[in-house]
Amino acid sequence: MISVDDFQLEARAWLAANRAGAPRDYGAICPPDLVEQGVAWHRKVHEAGYAGIHWPVEYGGRGLTPEHNSIWMLECALAGVPPVFNMVGLVLTGGAVLKFGTDEQKAQHLGPTVRADRLWCQLFSEPGAGSDLGGLSTKAERDGDDFIVNGQKVWCSGGRYSDWGILMARTDPEAKKHEGISFFLCPMDLPGIEIRPLKQMTGEAEFDEVFFTDVHLPAANLLGPLHGGWGVGMAVLTSERGHIGTSVIGLERRLESMARLAEGRDLSAIERQQLAALISKGSSYKAMAQRQGPIASTAASLMKLGITEMMFETSMLRGDLAGMDATLDGPDAFGMLAAPGGRIAGGTSQVQRNIIGERLLGLPREPKA
Ligand SMILES: Cc1cc2nc3c(=O)[nH]c(=O)nc-3n(C[C@H](O)[C@H](O)[C@H](O)COP(=O)(O)OP(=O)(O)OC[C@H]3O[C@@H](n4cnc5c(N)ncnc54)[C@H](O)[C@@H]3O)c2cc1C
Repeated sequence: MISVDDFQLEARAWLAANRAGAPRDYGAICPPDLVEQGVAWHRKVHEAGYAGIHWPVEYGGRGLTPEHNSIWMLECALAGVPPVFNMVGLVLTGGAVLKFGTDEQKAQHLGPTVRADRLWCQLFSEPGAGSDLGGLSTKAERDGDDFIVNGQKVWCSGGRYSDWGILMARTDPEAKKHEGISFFLCPMDLPGIEIRPLKQMTGEAEFDEVFFTDVHLPAANLLGPLHGGWGVGMAVLTSERGHIGTSVIGLERRLESMARLAEGRDLSAIERQQLAALISKGSSYKAMAQRQGPIASTAASLMKLGITEMMFETSMLRGDLAGMDATLDGPDAFGMLAAPGGRIAGGTSQVQRNIIGERLLGLPREPKA
């Protein structure tokens, strides 16, 4: 197996030669207007052996280790390009299918997903169930060889362009709330599925509402145990938080550019202190991310909280430094409008603090109403 150091040199050289064909670094989820370019980039990345780096070779991966994968993410962040098309397919769906899928499900989904021939979205949140995801009410009722799905999902990033979605739905309304949920792989073109774009305060519409009306979903699309979907969903969310946490490396580039932004400006003592505090926080998080890689444990909440709070503060400080210009259209204004979303997506900052308090620090559990 190629050593991590040699792999890093190889990846760096490939990126230097090929980065010109990449879309701008959009983060974890490809916005709808960049899909064509994002898919073309992913296919090029896959052909060169950099998609599914730690997946088994039989499923289209390269059979290397998670350390090789985190080096690829680091090199992409340094090059300012997205590491793959979209993390929902490769990180969330791929991770869930590898861990919980039957041999048939692995054969059906992993190859097309790693090649970006099958694009995925995440159908978890509902109007009445976000932080308290266990309270979800979309129903999937067994009817012969199918489940009949009725309900509504919301904030579904990339719903419009996705071929399939990972869906959490209630299969046993009588059971305790976390014990009556199942996890499904759902084609987005089934009759009865309606997708409507939602406009954000940035002016863009990156996510959608998804309505299910008497949708016949084949029972073979159940992933993991019937009524045992909570465990599958939590494994998926932990991977998502680990992935979001590793974007700290991209943040360091932003901090470097902020340090340059201060050059030649007459910053106040407070602004200088704020900038210095952010740069030193960024360096500590970078060191932690490099030590841990894309972590799939409750410690992922630490990185998710730290990185998204810091990105929020960075965007606000950028706005302050830009002054009046930040109220106009442009990257500083866009950054300030987009920043709050990062503190919410993948589980809010408050929820991460609860997880850290209860599961990492062993504090008393939050009282339940
Ligand atoms: C950019 C973006 C992309 C997203 N993409 C997707 C996607 O693709 N698929 C998907 O399914 N979802 C997606 N989401 C939804 C996201 O997962 C939810 O918004 C998030 O889980 C919060 O749920 P909520 O919006 O219902 O807020 P609520 O859960 O209603 O929370 C409202 C407020 O109450 C606070 N709060 C709630 N419970 C507690 C508690 N126990 N203790 C302390 N404070 C609490 C929260 O922190 C928050 O400030 C996305 C969100 C964003 C912003």
